[in-house]
Amino acid sequence: MTDAPLLIVGASMAGLRTAEGARRAGYDGPIELLGEENHAPYNRPPLSKELLQTEGHGHDEVAFPIRSALEQGVTWTLGRAAASLDAERRVVVDSAGVEHPYSSLVIATGLRPKSCPIPTHGLQGIHVLRTLDDAVGLRSALRPGANVVILGSGFVGCEIAATAAKNGCSVSIVTQSAVPLERALGAELGGEVRRRHEAHGVHFFTRDGLFGLVGEESVERVILTSGVMLECDVLVVAVGSDPNTEWLEGSGLDVSDGVLVDGGLRAVGIDGAVRPDVFAVGDVARYPNPLFDDVARRVEHWNLPTETGKRAGQLIAAHLRGDDCEPLAAAGFAPLPSFWSDQYDMHLLAFGMTYLADRAELVAGSLGDECVVEYFRGDDLVGVCGIGMRSLVQSYRSRFTVPTAA
Ligand SMILES: Cc1cc2nc3c(=O)[nH]c(=O)nc-3n(C[C@H](O)[C@H](O)[C@H](O)COP(=O)(O)OP(=O)(O)OC[C@H]3O[C@@H](n4cnc5c(N)ncnc54)[C@H](O)[C@@H]3O)c2cc1C
Repeated sequence: MTDAPLLIVGASMAGLRTAEGARRAGYDGPIELLGEENHAPYNRPPLSKELLQTEGHGHDEVAFPIRSALEQGVTWTLGRAAASLDAERRVVVDSAGVEHPYSSLVIATGLRPKSCPIPTHGLQGIHVLRTLDDAVGLRSALRPGANVVILGSGFVGCEIAATAAKNGCSVSIVTQSAVPLERALGAELGGEVRRRHEAHGVHFFTRDGLFGLVGEESVERVILTSGVMLECDVLVVAVGSDPNTEWLEGSGLDVSDGVLVDGGLRAVGIDGAVRPDVFAVGDVARYPNPLFDDVARRVEHWNLPTETGKRAGQLIAAHLRGDDCEPLAAAGFAPLPSFWSDQYDMHLLAFGMTYLADRAELVAGSLGDECVVEYFRGDDLVGVCGIGMRSLVQSYRSRFTVPTAA
């Protein structure tokens, strides 16, 4: 056994939850958290909601509490990114060239927003939203009367639109989809989301994209592929995210779309072999979920950093004790994904993987009010989403179970 710490790269929600999980599972050795941001772990959902709206809110309002189990034996190395991994020597090298040896390694580096799809030529006024610093910068731009164009109509784009409209901005959403949240919610519920945004004055340009940017120092207008020209003081690019895995190039791990892991969250190499001392958790991990099928996927929902962190913590503690981890890893990992979104007074809550569905059915309430929609792939229920009706939506949790072998 080595004296090197359990090294967690990515000091955010999934990294924190893994450290807590390892302690809870009995690991009392040293832990190091290495994080690129200067901030201690904080909660991201308020960045597109309360924090984006409330002047003066900052890290204090969104910081995760650090539990007493992590007060001893934990080193925080913040403001420093991992640059490479030498898995043979069990060493991570950071951006300053400093080596960080490890006994076990956790990859918790999450995602970063995709950048603007066309050249920006250094123009100011173009934003993305992933970090606290992004949110504080965007908040100061969302002043009343500002012309805000949001590229993308996923959750982050729609939530920013709602917040900007509430702030008194003039808001347009430009999207390649026919309706907002099309992939997650389908045409009907997505159409209802559009109707509610329009009721708050948001303009939609669907099946459209960004063709050009006009401005001297700062963006002043955007030209859409349809030929429409929009006044624009603030352009928010919200067209999805990429996993932060560049530092793992050449490490031998399968990082073809996030870090491929097995049901024990142990990394899998390009040779197909499991690496017993390397784990991945949170948004960056790609794993199969037997609740749905055996396809490995990345899932970007808030409850999964906690579920994956808890699970990895158990395996890490067992591995560092020298236990045989195979029975634990083989026990299977089947977390139920869940997401919510707040836009105006509309509260969306969902369970499952709605985006796997080929069919959606309204089963309670009405679209214009509160409602519940079920999502099916063939005959199988793969998701449920409600506007309001929280207790009915919650009651579906027990309906998602791992199929028993025939
Ligand atoms: C604006 C916003 C709103 C959201 N709202 C909701 C919501 O309403 N509901 C919901 O279900 N989910 C929501 N989510 C998703 C949820 O917040 C994420 O699923 C969750 O934050 C993922 O946590 P994570 O720790 O895996 O990754 P992250 O939170 O991305 O953390 C990864 C950390 O690793 C660091 N890092 C990256 N590369 C390196 C490196 N090379 N070296 C060291 N550190 C590195 C990053 O700087 C970051 O601090 C939202 C996300 C965002 C961005």
